[in-house]
Amino acid sequence: MIIVLRPGTSEQGIQQVADAVKKFNYEPRLIRGVERTVIACIGDERSHHTIESLSVFPQVESVTPIQKKYKVVSREYQAHDSVLDVAGRKIGGGTFHVVAGPCSVESASQTIETAKAVKSYGATLFRGGAFKPRTSPYDFQGLGREGLDLLRQARAATGLPIVTEVLSPQDVEMVAACADVLQIGARNAQNVPLLAAAADSGKTILLKRGVSGLVDEWLLAAEYICLHGNTKVILCERGIRTFEHACRNTLDLSAVAVAKQETHLPVFVDPSHAAGRADMVIPLARAAVAVGADGLLVEVHPDPATALSDGGQQLTPKQFGQLMAEIRPLVEVMGKKFGSD
Ligand code: PEP
Ligand code: MN
Repeated sequence: MIIVLRPGTSEQGIQQVADAVKKFNYEPRLIRGVERTVIACIGDERSHHTIESLSVFPQVESVTPIQKKYKVVSREYQAHDSVLDVAGRKIGGGTFHVVAGPCSVESASQTIETAKAVKSYGATLFRGGAFKPRTSPYDFQGLGREGLDLLRQARAATGLPIVTEVLSPQDVEMVAACADVLQIGARNAQNVPLLAAAADSGKTILLKRGVSGLVDEWLLAAEYICLHGNTKVILCERGIRTFEHACRNTLDLSAVAVAKQETHLPVFVDPSHAAGRADMVIPLARAAVAVGADGLLVEVHPDPATALSDGGQQLTPKQFGQLMAEIRPLVEVMGKKFGSD
């Protein structure tokens, strides 16, 4: 932490801040310039108390942290890529996996038909929402427990592991009994009790970035999960809210590049929620592969026009086949191996 004092601060003012720094268990080192004094505070910023509150002193101009706040998820902590095992699929570390399926599970035929179709085109995990975090309370909220049964049937029919969202800590046990991967959605990206409960289930967690979440906040949410003893985390960029409305959200490919550099965790991209429109999903998927993502999460529905949620952005199985055909050579160029079971 670096504290910059205002020009002309008296000796007494300098000492007052230095004493306060010591109270937080940091060692203050004074750097006296011609005009102003800077105090370098020596200590581990993650384990010592925050001294950002010292900015309340009138003689303090700024307090700047110099250490990153996350640790376990960082490449400094672990240089090599984490490789997660989800029902035998190796995720991260040079593989590329595609999670595909409908936004919501709606019926047995819709669920199983989609699972079979996405598998035939090379998807290695199946997604489908049983508990849906809808913006409007008047919209379809998902089939809940009945939806989980449909997901079980899809896994029995195809062998694909299941990725599904959990909305509240109370539901974790029930959802984890069905899911291979628990999804924490954008709306819950910083819901600490949910992160903790999901972590405690021991399942792999697919953690979406919040709609207005900073990369740091996203990685710190992953850090919460890891500190609960569960380092099986897949990060998923799904577009953020910006001034641009041509698409539903803006796919932040920079965040994917930053996350790949900063952390050893696998990073996936969800082009469906980023685009919000089916015709943009394939180009964004191609870009995701090129920027270095380790996988994709794509919404697919047998008849998007009748979908109970996110109809406009879901691909038909045939369009999904097109997506897979287009990304396959790119995945190879990126030196990654297309995941298989
Ligand atoms: C979803 O995956 O269907 C979903 C609701 O995603 P997000 O949390 O990214 O909006
Ligand atoms: Mn959706």
